[in-house]
Amino acid sequence: MNVGILGGGQLGRMLALAGLPFGMHFTFLEPADAACAADVGHQIKRAYDDPDGLTELCELSDVVTYEFENVPVHVAQSIQARRSIFPPPEALRVAQDRFIEKSTFKELDIDVTPFAAVSSLPELTAAVGTIGLPAILKTRRMGYDGKGQFMIRTAADIDNAWSTLGPNDFILEAFVPFKREISCLGVRSRTGEMAFYPVAENQHRAGILRISTPRANDPLQAQAETFTQRMLERLDYVGTLGFEFFDLGDGRLLGNEIAPRVHNSGHWSIEGSRCSQFENHMRAVAGLKLGDTSLRGPCAMVNFISTAPSAAELSGMPGVHPHLYGKSPRPRRKIGHATVTANDSAMLQQRVDRLVALLPKQD
Ligand code: AMP
Repeated sequence: MNVGILGGGQLGRMLALAGLPFGMHFTFLEPADAACAADVGHQIKRAYDDPDGLTELCELSDVVTYEFENVPVHVAQSIQARRSIFPPPEALRVAQDRFIEKSTFKELDIDVTPFAAVSSLPELTAAVGTIGLPAILKTRRMGYDGKGQFMIRTAADIDNAWSTLGPNDFILEAFVPFKREISCLGVRSRTGEMAFYPVAENQHRAGILRISTPRANDPLQAQAETFTQRMLERLDYVGTLGFEFFDLGDGRLLGNEIAPRVHNSGHWSIEGSRCSQFENHMRAVAGLKLGDTSLRGPCAMVNFISTAPSAAELSGMPGVHPHLYGKSPRPRRKIGHATVTANDSAMLQQRVDRLVALLPKQD
């Protein structure tokens, strides 16, 4: 089967690595030079909305998917008129706008922090009045890794927030004093079969995911799965979906955001699960049966941001499985990760600590 992917970064690369054993061939539509997915497939070096590029992608593909959520919805729809594209364009529409996303959570009875749409300074002042402080002002579209966000602690911050980020369309969200951030990866096949990975506990620094650890038998697994299942069904989804939650510490989860694609907080599944999030995404998109999402044993994922240990260093570390993406180092750039595996949680912690000690304390 020939698979087309919009985007040619590390997620595309890992999708292809998971699909190759099934005899799949990959074409990436990606304008960047030195795209790291080009090592494992054919690259069409054109913009994501370039008509000739899209025609070539469709001609070379039996089915199309994507590896980033900012694919313009009209581009996904234009592909849909010619080839099957999964996940459906509706998933992009919902995930690209934080206000539509959180409104969808509410419709589906997925708990969410109080929020309001804001498009002017007077609307911001009014929203602070209803939602209260502290609150976070976020751009509705195109925000990632904490970009386009401003924490409003006191009324004196309102003007500053607006002049720093505005004018734009925003969502104002009540600040959540969460205990943990967790994510649930769910996958749905073309026939509606669903499977869920164990929820992962996520540690961020400076707005970027650093460490993700799946928890077997987490008390909030059932709630996270229920919420993720509602989204999968509402979107008539096909593929892997990432759903990030705030754990309030009192048994309640609040939905934060979805990613209509494979997700960084599921990278441990390559060695840590019987079937990885990448393989399951490719199985779903290709119309195959889903694989087993259960854990092989204790594991965690450590991201390499800006810089990475050398292959030689990593090769000497027991239980450390490197994934270096072949990208050139740059500040705040994800250039690789490692899955750490162990026989028990104490050994896992020790191995994670040893790996983290090789990384810079700040970016
Ligand atoms: P986001 O881009 O919405 O995932 O936000 C990036 C990070 O900011 C999250 O992973 C949280 O650590 C933090 N954050 C976002 N929204 C809130 C909120 N409403 N309350 C508290 N922390 C938040």
